[in-house]
Amino acid sequence: MLIVGNQKTYLSKEAVLEFVSKIKDYRNNNVVICPSYLYIDLFCSNTDLIVGSQNVSEKEISSMTGEITARQLSSMGIKYCIVGHSERREYLKENSDVFANKIKNLIDNNIIPIFCVGEKQTEKGNNLTKDVVGKQILEVLSNFASCDIKNIVIAYEPVWAIGTGLVPTNEEIIDVVNYIKDLISDKFGINLLVLYGGSVNKKNISLLNQISSIDGYLIGGASTKVDEFLYIVSECSK
Ligand code: PEP
Repeated sequence: MLIVGNQKTYLSKEAVLEFVSKIKDYRNNNVVICPSYLYIDLFCSNTDLIVGSQNVSEKEISSMTGEITARQLSSMGIKYCIVGHSERREYLKENSDVFANKIKNLIDNNIIPIFCVGEKQTEKGNNLTKDVVGKQILEVLSNFASCDIKNIVIAYEPVWAIGTGLVPTNEEIIDVVNYIKDLISDKFGINLLVLYGGSVNKKNISLLNQISSIDGYLIGGASTKVDEFLYIVSECSK
């Protein structure tokens, strides 16, 4: 199981310091926390957690004002990086070419990309979930050789489930996760880890955990509260 916390822009410095002080002695090789760039060093220097990044520059050049490159992330000890989150697709208009460039830079710097895919509510309503998710995956993964693809983790995150409290049924998740695994295995001959993300919390984790084909979770809001986050992790180890 791989459990990844995406703390987005939720926490102030004070809240991060409190989070870090509560979690500083915790170590679990299956848990990754992705703080805001601003707080990466606070986590790397003061906790034993595996630290990931929420983003990376598309360009791997040393003169890129305001950006943070994969090489810089690697120099900070970053092991994972989220790419393709629906918020970056929607608000920053990032597309498959951008994601492929980011993933290339991450792989070149030995950082594992967590590549997010998922359908919007209307797409689900029109029975297009697999078309959308399949297109998102193939447009990006087709840029890579199998030896690189094996380093990627996929996160299936229905856009309508992110931050809304809505979660697909277990049957719906199983259907899409199996589709993703079969697609990647058929096209590239590789079995990748597939995480689920979207409104995972302490109330629904035990139900979600009944799905054996899920390899872990990408957790947003619930990863900002130490007690809830560790409760979810402990449920996943059962
Ligand atoms: C996310 O943003 O990746 C996410 C899963 O958020 P939440 O858990 O808050 O729905």
